[in-house]
Amino acid sequence: MTNWFESADSLVLPAKHLVDGGWVDALGDEIFSVVAPRDGSVLGQIALGNERDVDRAVATARAAFEDRRWSGLRPAQRGAVLRRWAELIQENAADLALTISLEMGKPVREALGVELRAVANCIRWYGEIADKRPDESPAAGDDVVALITREPAGVVAAVVPWNFPLTMTAWKLGPSLVAGNSVVLKPAEQTPYSALKLAELALQAGLPDGVLNVVPGRGHIVGKALGLHHDVDIVTFTGSPEVGRAFLRYSGESNGKRVWPELGGKSASIILPDADLEKAARMTAWGSFYNQGEMCSASSRMVVHRDVVDEVLEHARAQAREMAPADPLDQDAPLGSLVSEAHLERVLGHVRNAVADGAEIVEGSTERAVVDAHPGGSYVAPTILTGVTPGMRIEQQEVFGPVLSVITVDSEEEAIRVANGTEYGLAASVWTRDLGAAHRVSRAVKAGIVWVNCFEEGDMSVPFGGVKGSGFGRDKSAHAIDKFTDLKTTWIEL
Ligand code: NDP
Repeated sequence: MTNWFESADSLVLPAKHLVDGGWVDALGDEIFSVVAPRDGSVLGQIALGNERDVDRAVATARAAFEDRRWSGLRPAQRGAVLRRWAELIQENAADLALTISLEMGKPVREALGVELRAVANCIRWYGEIADKRPDESPAAGDDVVALITREPAGVVAAVVPWNFPLTMTAWKLGPSLVAGNSVVLKPAEQTPYSALKLAELALQAGLPDGVLNVVPGRGHIVGKALGLHHDVDIVTFTGSPEVGRAFLRYSGESNGKRVWPELGGKSASIILPDADLEKAARMTAWGSFYNQGEMCSASSRMVVHRDVVDEVLEHARAQAREMAPADPLDQDAPLGSLVSEAHLERVLGHVRNAVADGAEIVEGSTERAVVDAHPGGSYVAPTILTGVTPGMRIEQQEVFGPVLSVITVDSEEEAIRVANGTEYGLAASVWTRDLGAAHRVSRAVKAGIVWVNCFEEGDMSVPFGGVKGSGFGRDKSAHAIDKFTDLKTTWIEL
């Protein structure tokens, strides 16, 4: 078994940007220290990009697109490169997983077993579907041929968060690259190294120079410059609602580029009295705490019928106690550290607000959790709040930490009202043995994804995304490829 502590000591981290197929110095001169949140130590330094770095990367991507070195390949040839890339991701999975774990604090076991598996699977899936989506030629008449073709849009900017840093990146890169676009990727400040390593493997797999460029930098500088750039055709974004709306504004202020926002969530888990209560309670609690709660689809609101709330709460508390945070390099850690001290303060601030608003803490605390070896680490214990009522700040705002709010209701109708009572609409789950209730509730809940008697089921062939304030982009599946293509109609008179 890998000794992750030894591997961490010898980990190599890239220090430059990846543009036009090679490592280049940043044009910006701000040096950023990437901090490992497991213990607060400096993991490494990296030069941050600025507007000039963005101009250089976009010009490179544009040149690569225009000379058709990638877009002009046959789909099967593009697919072969992606499949080779997926193999290289698998071969380098341990290194990538360790890099993620050190950057953002998730348990290395999860990074390897869940995230890297998903990343390789995603890239392979798009590699496999590359040549399996024929264009159309409707019957137009004996004297004319009509063609409906999907054309790559051009230059795509992908701006991604740190919580599933490579999964989110793969969800953007797989469909945009397989469609023939060129890409400029801006990773989150906290997770530049894993993104650079992933892109380097794409080059090794045969992706032509300039087709994928990585510009680490601050969101309000590099992200904004991409959003405002007149030569970027599409922005694909996962992150907070505020920044998602900023990208829509940037588009309106520049060239009207397409923006695909995947934003936050405040997902409800509705537990009706006839459900398998232990499974419902444990899965909801797990879904709220998993990945330190830093998950857009986290089941952060447990909406439970009054008749069964006591029993449900007991099971949820047992789940919380089994998920105490530990050093993410510890092979058995169920949870790691939050991404940063600043984020820890935000999460604990939400808990303190909840208490001030009248909620009661039955598991967890308003203070950080102490993991013995690392007093400088950013750890928060799974926290359960009862007495939460609709409209409270904790019930409305996305926490993005391991905090579960329990809201008691008296009927199915009230549960639906509560579930729909936030600005978000990413996901929801329904727990019941009554097929009719499952159908009624899942139809009535306004969410992009509804899980019935399960949580976080997913497959590359099935889209992921939300409605309302959670945005309208869809990641994964063949539908995602359409986001990065234009339909072209060609009439040929015979
Ligand atoms: P942010 O919106 O703060 O950041 C996301 C990305 O946008 C980062 O790369 C960030 O750069 C960049 N950015 C920040 N400010 C700007 C700006 N003014 N202009 C352009 N780009 C900017 O989100 P978080 O990193 O805090 O990620 C958590 C959020 O992501 C949560 O709301 C979560 O729900 C959501 N999310 C949604 C998912 C979905 O599929 N729906 C999946 C996962 C997360 P920098 O790092 O430099 O700040």
